Amino acid sequence: MNRRKFLTTATLSSSALVLNACNDENHQAIDYSKHPQSKKGTKTVHINKNKKTVIKLATSWPAHFPIMGIGVEKFAQRVKDVSGGSLEIKIYPKNTLVPALAVFDACSSGQIDAFHSGPYYWKGKNSAFSLYSGIPFGFTAEEINSWMTFGGGLELWREQYAKYNLHPFLGGNTNIQMGGWFRKPINSLEDIQGLKMRIPGLGGEVFSKMGVNPVLLPAGEIYTSLERGVIDATEWVGPALDIKMGFYKVAPYYYSGWHEPGSILELTFSKHTWDKMADEHQSIIEVCASEMNANMTSEFHYENIHALSKLQELGVKLHHFPEDVNIAGKKALQEVIYELSSKNKDFAKVYESINNHLKLSRTWSDVSLRNFLNER
Ligand code: CA
Repeated sequence: MNRRKFLTTATLSSSALVLNACNDENHQAIDYSKHPQSKKGTKTVHINKNKKTVIKLATSWPAHFPIMGIGVEKFAQRVKDVSGGSLEIKIYPKNTLVPALAVFDACSSGQIDAFHSGPYYWKGKNSAFSLYSGIPFGFTAEEINSWMTFGGGLELWREQYAKYNLHPFLGGNTNIQMGGWFRKPINSLEDIQGLKMRIPGLGGEVFSKMGVNPVLLPAGEIYTSLERGVIDATEWVGPALDIKMGFYKVAPYYYSGWHEPGSILELTFSKHTWDKMADEHQSIIEVCASEMNANMTSEFHYENIHALSKLQELGVKLHHFPEDVNIAGKKALQEVIYELSSKNKDFAKVYESINNHLKLSRTWSDVSLRNFLNER
């Protein structure tokens, strides 16, 4: 062995020893087998760099819509970057390829490959789908992520969507939503009787049982309807998006709420498109969707705190619903759950899973988060 070859071999051997030692220590410190996403060895590499895959994704939001629309645009850019340009997601904002609320059917039939929207819009297909957005008095964003990812929620969701040729992912979370904007103050349950309010989803059904008359309106018509007194109140999302709608100018009473405590947004693929994607592209989507879900949730929080401060500067006063409204809401929720569970076994099955998770989660959140927030 000449001197150069001896030195190279010696250097490599000692490096290898150091690496092995590090690996041994790491393996002792971390038990990888317990990590839920550990799927070592099951993937194969077969991306053909010359073959570009293009995915058509439609959203239920206008182009560059704050947080939700922009979040999807960032997701598409990340997918392109991480895949080295081999996977491109072409975004079609609402009504540019399919109408906002036709994305489910368009994806199910294969007209588009994917969509970004909210699962409670599809309660007409199956009332159980509304539960994947969450329930009134139910999960916070952290709690629903926990149920979805580790508590069986995502498996149920995928099982039920598969019947429509769809494969969903968590696609963000609005965080706790505000109860809404009212033209007059709500001092008791009496004050909401016969009120015309724009409120969709399970929240709308609960308020309906409480005596409210829920109205569904396209986003573009809410402000004018409120201004002209065609409706008396509206919920929307939270300070970040509400401030842009200008509701504070025509309905000055802003209430905190419980009807959408942590609504999930969805990133859903055609199962046919998903199943034929390369393993690496599937992994890239999984990672980037997870990033979008986390970022959108944090961005809502960030934008909400700044918008709330701005609304307060504009003179908006914050209110809570009176106790009799809250009590009536909890009672109405139980009636809605009972009725929908009796009519639809899918609803009953998903609700049971939610309820089991929520029972334990309530205790933990009370002892940890509620206690802390009360003391902060
Ligand atoms: Ca809402």
